[in-house]
Amino acid sequence: VITATAHRGLVLLSPVPIYLCYDAPPIFSGTAMTFSTSTAASSTTLPAFGSLPLRSELQESIEALAYESMTAIQAQALPPLLEGQDVIAQARTGSGKTAAFAIGLLNKLDTQSYCTQALVLCPTRELAAQVATEIRKLASTLANTRVLTLCGGRPMGPQLASLRRDPHIVVGTPGRILKHLERETLRLEAVQTLVLDEADRMLDMGFHDDIMKIIQKTPASRQTLLFSATY
Ligand code: AMP
Repeated sequence: VITATAHRGLVLLSPVPIYLCYDAPPIFSGTAMTFSTSTAASSTTLPAFGSLPLRSELQESIEALAYESMTAIQAQALPPLLEGQDVIAQARTGSGKTAAFAIGLLNKLDTQSYCTQALVLCPTRELAAQVATEIRKLASTLANTRVLTLCGGRPMGPQLASLRRDPHIVVGTPGRILKHLERETLRLEAVQTLVLDEADRMLDMGFHDDIMKIIQKTPASRQTLLFSATY
């Protein structure tokens, strides 16, 4: 447990402890499920989602998706994440990382409050689309949840129209998110959860300064979740 970390120049400071989680190699690429013995959740039996303090709607959607047990990264990250701790997790594509942070942000979402409560930053349009799809699947039992993707290379018009309908969750790439912040078409002062997905890739792609400007627009009280394939 640490209280601050430097990640290739990205320094995250937190008033609460940050949990570091390590993930096993991707487990959904074949039939065999293998977990690194060096991970905390390396036993062959992983816990069921029923052991987590989740709202009933989320338990229902997890059941509907037939997610019988947690993946290694979910078993490690979800308990501190659901307590509101900041989490830094090493997790590759295929590990179930998206569901880990999606469950965390959806568990505290107030669907009656029409403001942006969660922001997920992704390095690419393709990843943003996949993340939004996973969030929408898990949010299917939470009535009226609005998830909006904001990525570059897409026309501004439809994005502006969707922003006027106050999305609860915004998933996007840093450049386009920053453009909306500069135009004041997106407001982040009600953000409770900030996710940096594939943070190492975003930094490699030169998004450091954009990310820092975006973070400054979010409340200091937010929960920050950083997922990266490497350290
Ligand atoms: P990701 O690593 O987030 O790209 O997830 C890889 C795939 O695993 C996605 O298709 C998810 O829907 C699926 N998935 C996530 N969590 C679980 C789980 N606990 N059990 C089974 N499949 C899962």
